[in-house]
Order: sequence, then C-alpha cells, then structure tokens
Amino acid sequence: MPYLRLFCEQLSDHLFVVGQERLDPKAFSSDCHVYLIIGQDSALAVDAGGGHLWPYVRATLDLHGSPEMIITHVLLTHGHGDHARGLVEFEHGGALTVSSVYAAEHLDSEEDADFLLHHDEVLDLGEFQPEAIMTPGHTPGSVSYRLTVDDRVCLFTGDLIQIDGGLGWCGAEGFDQAQVLQSLKKLAALTPPADWLLAGHGVHRDAEALLRRAIALSERDKWVVWTDDRPDLSAVEV
Ligand SMILES: [Zn+2]
Repeated sequence: MPYLRLFCEQLSDHLFVVGQERLDPKAFSSDCHVYLIIGQDSALAVDAGGGHLWPYVRATLDLHGSPEMIITHVLLTHGHGDHARGLVEFEHGGALTVSSVYAAEHLDSEEDADFLLHHDEVLDLGEFQPEAIMTPGHTPGSVSYRLTVDDRVCLFTGDLIQIDGGLGWCGAEGFDQAQVLQSLKKLAALTPPADWLLAGHGVHRDAEALLRRAIALSERDKWVVWTDDRPDLSAVEV
C-alpha cells in the first residue's frame, strides 16, 4: 500500500504546486510542496523539495509555460533537506537561490545560496517582485514570501505553521515556539491581508482564518511540540 502520492495541481491561472500528499498521516514526506509561479517570460519557485520533484516541476513548466522557459529564482523558506536538497536540479536548470543568511549557513544541500536576505525587503526579480519577510521560529532564519498572483495575495510560509494551525516539525536547532507566535502575529498584521497561505506541506485558502486559528491555539496552550509523529490538531476547537 502506498503511503505517499506525488501530485501536481494548478491552483490558479499562473500558480501551481508540485508535492507529496500523505495517504497515511504517519508517512514521512521527503519533499515539501514546491510552488511554481509561471509568468510571461520566466518562472519563479518557492522551495526546491528534497530532490524527487524536479522532473514534475519541469514538466509543469513545459506544459503551462514553454520548454524554453526557465525558473530564474528559487525563493527558499529555510534550509531543511525536504525544502533544499532539490536545489541541485533547479540550479542545473538555470535558477539562482534566494535565502536568508542563516539558511545559507545551515543549508542541507550541495548547492550554495546566490542571493542573501539580511532583512525584510521587496525583491526585484525581473517580472516578479516578491516581498521577503523574516519569520523566525521554525528555524532562526526562516523566511516567508508575499506575492500577488492572479489577483490573490499569496503568502508562502514554509514550515512556520501547518494548515491545521499546529506547529511544523520542532526538532531543528534553534526552533523557538515563542518566535513562531511572534512571526504569525507579524504576518497577520500585514496589509492588505493575505488570501491564500501556501505552507511547506499544505495549502489553505483562507490565510486570515488560519493565522487567527494558529495564534489562538498558541495563546490557549494547545500547540503540541513534536519531532516524530505529526499531531493532528484539525479537531481542536479554539
Ligand atoms: Zn523544516
């Protein structure tokens, strides 16, 4: 019986996700969700996965962009292997890696970062201008990215939070639950508010509701710090 299914989904006209879906909640996913934004002449990716997704990402770009189109940049949310090992294939395909300084120094990949983020800033990447927002907590150098795609404000948050409002994996050096909460409050205060929250292992189409729920879970002491089995908080009321 399979425990994981590889999938590619078109989320809106120009936004795609390639990833692994857990068919068994205890299954270990070696690859995060890779988000692909396909523009007129180029494409952008958020995270690179753990090394198994590149052929599916490339095929998506061939089909919905063109075979000549390249991914110019990968926006890395943090350096964990399930998000960063796949950088090797992305960089061979022509991409540059954008990362926080901390993630670049703790990168679980054979590749190096090419463009280092020191603070919050709007990036000028050709036809895309994503906003990089420092959101420490899952790791000290975790970054979220905000970008309007197809008239929706999309917030890419890596493993800061899961789509049930619970914490991402808590076993990394520098994990800090109090910082996760502060980062969530920072994201919730941004204007205009985000429409979709595109996390490292799931998509939520009401970002404001998810941020509110995650903050409430934290403040009512309902978060579970975990490293092995992922707790399911979807039924926990706040
Ligand atoms: Zn992680």
